Amino acid sequence: MRRENGVEIDEFDADELRQLEPSLSRDYVRGVLVRENGHTSNPLKLVERLLEHFLRSGGEVVRARAHGFRFDGRGLTAIQTDTGDLAADAAIVCAGAYSKPLAASLGDRVPLETERGYHLMIADPEVMPRIPTADADGKFVATPMATGLRFAGTVELAGLAAPPDWRRAHILLAQGRKMLPGLAASHPEERISVWMGHRPSLPDSLPVLGPSRASPDVVYAFGHGHVGMTAAPMTGKLVADLVTGRPPSIDIAPFAPGRFG
Ligand SMILES: Cc1cc2nc3c(=O)[nH]c(=O)nc-3n(C[C@H](O)[C@H](O)[C@H](O)COP(=O)(O)OP(=O)(O)OC[C@H]3O[C@@H](n4cnc5c(N)ncnc54)[C@H](O)[C@@H]3O)c2cc1C
Repeated sequence: MRRENGVEIDEFDADELRQLEPSLSRDYVRGVLVRENGHTSNPLKLVERLLEHFLRSGGEVVRARAHGFRFDGRGLTAIQTDTGDLAADAAIVCAGAYSKPLAASLGDRVPLETERGYHLMIADPEVMPRIPTADADGKFVATPMATGLRFAGTVELAGLAAPPDWRRAHILLAQGRKMLPGLAASHPEERISVWMGHRPSLPDSLPVLGPSRASPDVVYAFGHGHVGMTAAPMTGKLVADLVTGRPPSIDIAPFAPGRFG
């Protein structure tokens, strides 16, 4: 399917795989390299740099929890928040897995769910793959990060409120040690860190992009599931088009908020 869609891939047998990535276990007998794949070695820094750019361009950050919208006869007048109303003539709902009640307040019922996922980091690892390396069976990825080695993946369907189940993060460590036998059999606690995040997901794996039922002044941009970072630049462009009234550069009908009826 990748080839059919113009993605260049190279396939490797066990010997080639070992030459490409000597840290991998010899249990792996086949590999696929996606040469054009990119990754960020520090997502926090990436977001901080984007924020700096936004502020330099005249943007302002207000920390508040949005819970609704006010309209008059002509359109949007304010976003309702826990710190009072914020005057606005346009708004974007991009609250990730938390977007559902905001969309409902605008008359859109979207079957948004959280696909919770975990990561486990080892600081100063004994070995690291040179590039992000996925185990297709285990459904996890080992990624060399600026701050260490990150094992990430898995899907847990447990809603927004349940506390993290850290056993799931530690399973990644057990699998990662099998993938990279050069890692120590145990690590001191201070070198291990864990994280749980919410992937905002829809049943058809497509995001929700487009104007709300209540008003074109409020635009949706959520539901990017497993690829929210990858898809963000394109979504950003489309949302800018929608808010400024330009025709979007691609057909956004497949992402329509009303597609679930
Ligand atoms: C383990 C794991 C690995 C992943 N790996 C990748 C990957 O390799 N590549 C990739 O592209 N994607 C990956 N993702 C998916 C990616 O993280 C998400 O798709 C992305 O973060 C979604 O971005 P978002 O801005 O829509 O939502 P979020 O990042 O969840 O941001 C939503 C923001 O809205 C705020 N908010 C919520 N409610 C309100 C409210 N009522 N009022 C105001 N603000 C509110 C929240 O505080 C938050 O800041 C991964 C996810 C996980 C969990």
